Amino acid sequence: MDTLLIIHNKLQFPHPCSSFTDKVGVFSYLKPCTQENVKLGSRRSYARWGRGVCAKVSSSELLELVPETKKENLEFELPMYDPSKSIVMDLAVVGGGPAGLAVAQQVSEAGLSVCSIDPFPKLIWPNNYGVWVDEFEAMDLLDCLDTTWSGATVFINDNSTKDLGRPYGRVNRKQLKSKMMQKCISNGVKFHQAKVIKVIHEESKSYLICNDGVTIQASVVLDATGFSRSLVQYDKVYNPGYQVAYGILAEVEEHPFDVNKMVFMDWRDSHLINNPELKEKNSRLPTFLYAMPFSKNRIFLEETSLVARPGLAMDDIQERMVARLKHLGIKITSIEEDERCVIPMGGPLPILPQRVVGIGGTAGMVHPSTGYMVARTLAAAPVVANAIVKYLGSETNLMGNELSAEVWKDLWPIERRRQREFFCFGMDVLLKLDLPATRRFFDAFFDLEPRYWHGFLSSRLYLPELLVFGLSLFSHASNTSRLEIMAKGTLPLVNMINNLLNDRE
Ligand SMILES: Cc1cc2nc3c(=O)[nH]c(=O)nc-3n(C[C@H](O)[C@H](O)[C@H](O)COP(=O)(O)OP(=O)(O)OC[C@H]3O[C@@H](n4cnc5c(N)ncnc54)[C@H](O)[C@@H]3O)c2cc1C
Repeated sequence: MDTLLIIHNKLQFPHPCSSFTDKVGVFSYLKPCTQENVKLGSRRSYARWGRGVCAKVSSSELLELVPETKKENLEFELPMYDPSKSIVMDLAVVGGGPAGLAVAQQVSEAGLSVCSIDPFPKLIWPNNYGVWVDEFEAMDLLDCLDTTWSGATVFINDNSTKDLGRPYGRVNRKQLKSKMMQKCISNGVKFHQAKVIKVIHEESKSYLICNDGVTIQASVVLDATGFSRSLVQYDKVYNPGYQVAYGILAEVEEHPFDVNKMVFMDWRDSHLINNPELKEKNSRLPTFLYAMPFSKNRIFLEETSLVARPGLAMDDIQERMVARLKHLGIKITSIEEDERCVIPMGGPLPILPQRVVGIGGTAGMVHPSTGYMVARTLAAAPVVANAIVKYLGSETNLMGNELSAEVWKDLWPIERRRQREFFCFGMDVLLKLDLPATRRFFDAFFDLEPRYWHGFLSSRLYLPELLVFGLSLFSHASNTSRLEIMAKGTLPLVNMINNLLNDRE
């Protein structure tokens, strides 16, 4: 955890993204080249960066439209944990993101006592989550999507487009969190507003020391602190790739996209034609546009580096985004919110097993080739919850390390570890591809039978099917792409085989 700092829920690299901390100070040094004087946070401000208005548009103009962060809280009366009673809870869940709340809800449903600890328990989650509709349908969570698109588009280049007939949705994070909180409250979950700074274990229970001086005792501790990985321990060098993205939810005069389809990936680079330096950078370390058009005038736009090591600098991504939007003729009239996304991908799993149990970002559950996780985590929550309920139950009589070991075994069985190893192999190949090779890769990927690409993206394929998937991808690839995969994939392949052989039950 020493390479990452967390600042207001944003992950930060000391380098190259060190500009995150001083948003105004760093980005407002460039004067906007507009006629109008754009004021910070003014929702009526117009940035005139349509074609032909400015010779060079800076990302500072875009950032000047970003409002001060709006922190919206849910209006719930939370039943609070009473430290004076010194009760030993069955489960303490550290972190109230989607992963933590899902487990808190399900363990409390079985009648066990649960304490959920988070510094901002009522805050609506800040991230703009996108999922495939079938993933949420399988969990009976369709009511937690606020917009759905009948399909998705992938622009490979100016001449080739793929229409993906798989519905996509945006998570209604307020509704999802409200639903989980309501269930937690009615199941008797207690909340504590603080940060856990330390955990001390005894044979049958643990003490969680919070930054407000309160100590909470629990039989099982679940670390659900996301990518901050507060309590779960790692014993291998943490060397993930990073997905870095900058997104805005904006009102625009118009945009060129079909409102019935979301844009899953737009790899076109014609917006960089007059900027050879940026074009060359983008060719080496490509970024794509991800977009959710809500109407003709309202759209979520996110310039994304799929994966790179080290991660791309945020201001580099913002510069590319500004050039792209200008080229597409997208004139922004106001920005409702922005999102700076830094997702560590791949890297080693935590020590398996260990006393603290984990789920979500803290437990290596992000998809190493895509950065997606929310659907996978929500689907894994019952596995973790059932294991805790089962092993804490009177029949098995397990406690402490033995109990945690069983929970970890259920969360990361050998099939899942092998699956993850394959996804890490995918990430290692993607890390080596430049823009032309990335295009060829996705051209072949989205030509596969839907069950393969759906299954790969949604973590539904296991090793034998993944091997068939790999061969199928290879056979769909162009000759150039095959040569590239062989040249760039051989070492990752050898590493994967080695890791698979070393990882036994
Ligand atoms: C900007 C962004 C966009 C993303 N978009 C998508 C997407 O579209 N689709 C998708 O599938 N995935 C997406 N992801 C990846 C992933 O799904 C999210 O990161 C998801 O929020 C992870 O859920 P989580 O519950 O594990 O952690 P988090 O949501 O990060 O929640 C962790 C919680 O722990 C709390 N916490 C941290 N430290 C402590 C401590 N010491 N004590 C107590 N509490 C603590 C935090 O306050 C926070 O509430 C995105 C990630 C980011 C960063």
